[in-house]
Amino acid sequence: MSAVAAAPRSAAAPPAEPPFLRRRERRTVTALAEVLFPHSEGALLTPGEVADGVDAQLRRMRASKRTRSLHLILLVIEYVLPLAGLLMLGVHLRPFSRLAPDRRAQLVDETLVRTRVKPLRTLAKLKTLLLAAYYSDEGVQRRIGFVPVRDRGLDTAPAPGGPLRLHDPAGERLQVDVCVIGSGAGGAVVAARAAAAGRTVALLEEGAHVAGADIVHDEHRMVAALYKEHGLQTTVDLGMTILQGRTLGGTTHVNNAICFRLGDPALRAPRGADVLEDWRRLGCAIDEPALQASYDRIEAELSVAHVPGPLVGASGDALLDGWRALEPDAPAAGVFRKNIRGCIGCGYCNYACPYGHKLSTLETYVRDVADLGGHVLAGWKVERLERRGDRVTGVRARLADGRRLTVEAGAVVVAAGAIGSSVLLLRSGFRRNVGTRFSFNAATPVLGRHDAPRHSWAADQMTAYVDGGSFLVESSFDPPMSVAVAMPGWAGEHLRRMRAYDHLTRFGVMIGTRADGRVKRTAFFRDTFGPVAWRMGAHDLATMKRGIVLATRIHLAAGARAVYVASFLDCRIDARDVMRHGVPDAQAIAARVDAAVQDASDLLLNSSHPQGGNPMSDDPRVGVVGTDFRVHGTRNLFVADASVFPTSIHVNPQLTVMAMAGLAWERVAELG
Ligand SMILES: Cc1cc2nc3c(=O)[nH]c(=O)nc-3n(C[C@H](O)[C@H](O)[C@H](O)COP(=O)(O)OP(=O)(O)OC[C@H]3O[C@@H](n4cnc5c(N)ncnc54)[C@H](O)[C@@H]3O)c2cc1C
Ligand code: SF4
Repeated sequence: MSAVAAAPRSAAAPPAEPPFLRRRERRTVTALAEVLFPHSEGALLTPGEVADGVDAQLRRMRASKRTRSLHLILLVIEYVLPLAGLLMLGVHLRPFSRLAPDRRAQLVDETLVRTRVKPLRTLAKLKTLLLAAYYSDEGVQRRIGFVPVRDRGLDTAPAPGGPLRLHDPAGERLQVDVCVIGSGAGGAVVAARAAAAGRTVALLEEGAHVAGADIVHDEHRMVAALYKEHGLQTTVDLGMTILQGRTLGGTTHVNNAICFRLGDPALRAPRGADVLEDWRRLGCAIDEPALQASYDRIEAELSVAHVPGPLVGASGDALLDGWRALEPDAPAAGVFRKNIRGCIGCGYCNYACPYGHKLSTLETYVRDVADLGGHVLAGWKVERLERRGDRVTGVRARLADGRRLTVEAGAVVVAAGAIGSSVLLLRSGFRRNVGTRFSFNAATPVLGRHDAPRHSWAADQMTAYVDGGSFLVESSFDPPMSVAVAMPGWAGEHLRRMRAYDHLTRFGVMIGTRADGRVKRTAFFRDTFGPVAWRMGAHDLATMKRGIVLATRIHLAAGARAVYVASFLDCRIDARDVMRHGVPDAQAIAARVDAAVQDASDLLLNSSHPQGGNPMSDDPRVGVVGTDFRVHGTRNLFVADASVFPTSIHVNPQLTVMAMAGLAWERVAELG
């Protein structure tokens, strides 16, 4: 058994720091936990233990500015929510935590569970923190049928290969040929190509180097350690969670390794061609043969291949079986191709692979940079680019302990990811078009409940897809914490549904949104309200709902007895109500989805694929960079990451980010 597999329980090991929750706030959280996890329904943890888990997690997340609003939310629940109770229910006016337990449950039911009122919805989202704490407990996980990785008889040998050579600068200045900012899909490829071409390279990454025994199978801890804003990043209206890695290796360290090309023959034509045609109309004519050649090279370097059969698991099987039952020819469905090798199907890809089986940039290109003598700097946040005329002369970075470094480079490549790259350009005084044409692949989960146990957790998390034309349905199953957050329902109902965790299969519906979002241009607004202003419009919502209906039909065709849509108002669809002659009735399903989902805020939405903000276009009225990846009006400043996509590419983007970064390097190399 490896050190990784023997990870300690999460909720019981808070870091040694003062509590995050003040005494009064802790009372509110405990009182809410009493409602959410009633002892009478067989809850395994006491409300106090749940509050301990919440506090431990908030301590890990304290650095995030997003946690500040929690103090206000708890204050409102304690003192303002009871006012609503007084008006609606005639409940005595007392602070929330002082109400009698049955009155408090009634108040929650009337105000938070069934509300369509936006501010109450915001309060209701606090539920997520409590669910995360409860379902991070190993005793709870075992009770619902989850088996920890260390007990599955798998080969959990740690990652092979020696330690990564990181650079610890001695002085405050460093001179290189090429400075790359961000070590994810885009940055790592450019840095590795530059190092291989004999250039001196500095690769600066804000996140820490988290590898080997530091990677534990504990969602609670790892989300705090590996994700930007510790996983709390959202759109300004709080309507959608935006997930991005903040760690050496970038988002590739926490992603699912799915590889699609634009124009992928496995996808329904002409999806990829459409995207490139849209880009052309926007002044972004990509050299397609060069892009395909770059894809070929990246795929060979990352051993991209179809997910092996034994790893597909119950959710992937349900997706493909259900689809075949509905559409016998099944032309637009299959298992994913991925950059994994020797994967044991532990199901924790989103929390980094401790075994080295995911060929993320950390395991590949970042290592190449270090091995070729490049400087890999982890934990260094680039704060500003120094500029003289049309040249960037220096890159100013800071370590968490306050140390400062200026990197002077012949060429500077910004690859800090969508949002991050726009923010850095804005901070450095580049403003024209910066932050515009922001888009997402937005997703929502749909869960199926089967009569017999399915052990969906015993597989790779994401293994198969169905191409619905304007949306993708992707199989995706998670360890207990994330499934609990996706599962609709409250209190006893939620506990009962989660008790059937081992009987669940899960899909995600993903759509490419319109490019009408915008990165906030002022630091104060970004920090206070979230970095991206965007709301799902009616067109995107209609597409999403079509996807939910298809996902529900597939679940039912695969034998699920009930389907749960991740909506705020409960939307449980029972097979017996919507099956007609053994076939799921699309109209009956759509009617139920329509009843629960009238507005995008009725859905649990997340995006792991933010794109845009520095759109590529040779037309300087539209683009931040041209098709040579160079920022308009500069000679040596380039951007090479998902931020240059002028529209969403609709499919999982890492391979395209990498292939485009390969093209970017060719332009950077021309500088000599
Ligand atoms: C949970 C999850 C699962 C996913 N699964 C898939 C998948 O299976 N297939 C797929 O194709 N895509 C997947 N993606 C998306 C994919 O990983 C990203 O689209 C891709 O990594 C984006 O590449 P990038 O170079 O633009 O940014 P990133 O990979 O995010 O890298 C940017 C890096 O820059 C760093 N940075 C930011 N600001 C600064 C600064 N000021 N100074 C220094 N460093 C900075 C960040 O910390 C980060 O490490 C997934 C994403 C998530 C969140
Ligand atoms: S499922 Fe992901 S994390 Fe687990 S072994 Fe495979 S690649 Fe690694």
